[in-house]
Amino acid sequence: MKKIFPCVEINIKKITHNTRVINEICKSKNIHVVGVSKVYCAKLPIAQAMLNGGIEIMGDSRIENLKKMEHLKCRKMLLRIPMESHASEVVRYADISLNSEINTIKVLSRAAKRVNKIHNVILMIDLGDLREGVLESETLENVKEIIKLPNIKLCGIGTNLTCYGGVIPDSDNLGRLVKLKEAIENSNNLSLPIVSGGNSSSLYAVLNDTIPSGINQLRIGEAIVLGRETAYGNKIPNCYSDSFILKGEIIEIKDKPSVPKGKIGMDAFGKTPSFIDKGIIKRAIIALGRQDIAPEGLNPVDNCIEILGGSSDHLILDISRCSNKYKIGDVVDFNMDYGCLLRTMTSPYVKKYYLD
Ligand SMILES: *Cc1c(COP(=O)(O)O)cnc(C)c1O
Repeated sequence: MKKIFPCVEINIKKITHNTRVINEICKSKNIHVVGVSKVYCAKLPIAQAMLNGGIEIMGDSRIENLKKMEHLKCRKMLLRIPMESHASEVVRYADISLNSEINTIKVLSRAAKRVNKIHNVILMIDLGDLREGVLESETLENVKEIIKLPNIKLCGIGTNLTCYGGVIPDSDNLGRLVKLKEAIENSNNLSLPIVSGGNSSSLYAVLNDTIPSGINQLRIGEAIVLGRETAYGNKIPNCYSDSFILKGEIIEIKDKPSVPKGKIGMDAFGKTPSFIDKGIIKRAIIALGRQDIAPEGLNPVDNCIEILGGSSDHLILDISRCSNKYKIGDVVDFNMDYGCLLRTMTSPYVKKYYLD
């Protein structure tokens, strides 16, 4: 088959393997893994790879993605706090949603009642990262209101860390979450089966055995797709970090100076660039740009290549130090970080090929 470039090659077996490894580690600590699909736009072959690795609930931040996964045999969780205007889609496509606004939960309650469904809610608690969630001090009063609502089942509490504020999950903040669950159960005489203790950054605490007992769910995306925890970015033992490889084609190679000639103003993105003079260098241009990638998140597989920069449609490389004699039409491979992977998977200009 003739490949079209740029493209990303997605190794389905490696994703299933990573899922299985992470799922087993978590299972041994009584933690259930929700597989998170947003970074790959819930493309079905990849979501199915997660299910084959043992996932039973898929989570995504966007309703459109949950809708794509409608026919997969698993439960679905909406990760981003719902918009009121999406309430009927939320109760239709999500079995569970993460929430922090009592008024929105009331709207969900009415939407669920209209279609005679029970919608499960996890109340998000802000433990200090300052993204979503009610404050710890306001949790009990919120719970009292939620449990009165028809067609809503409060099934747990949760938190999200290391997203906005960079706060690391530890036995202190996650310990407070477990205590809060007990306080809610005791003061309302109910049982809250789920304590959802965060994302791939909480895996660090799982791996070094400091995760408080009582945390029984994590919502994991990046660790499965890129094989690393995200508190410190350490590789997870026995996981692949190259399940996704981006491939771009060379459209120009020329020996040119390393410093532009002329008065320097703004680049295409309004920044004033600066340059180091390395004399004449061999420059290659790849047909890939910011509409497809985040240049700072790319890592060439050939580590003699240096990335000089990129604009909307062009990625500029220094290939002076490469022993490989690149020529026009050659294809260059890259690993991607999370931000770049997100953009690549979202870009309609990048073809997706699934290897299995
Ligand atoms: C994206 C997201 C996750 C998964 O994060 P990863 O770092 O990819 O594991 C978990 N929870 C919420 C609320 C999210 O938005």
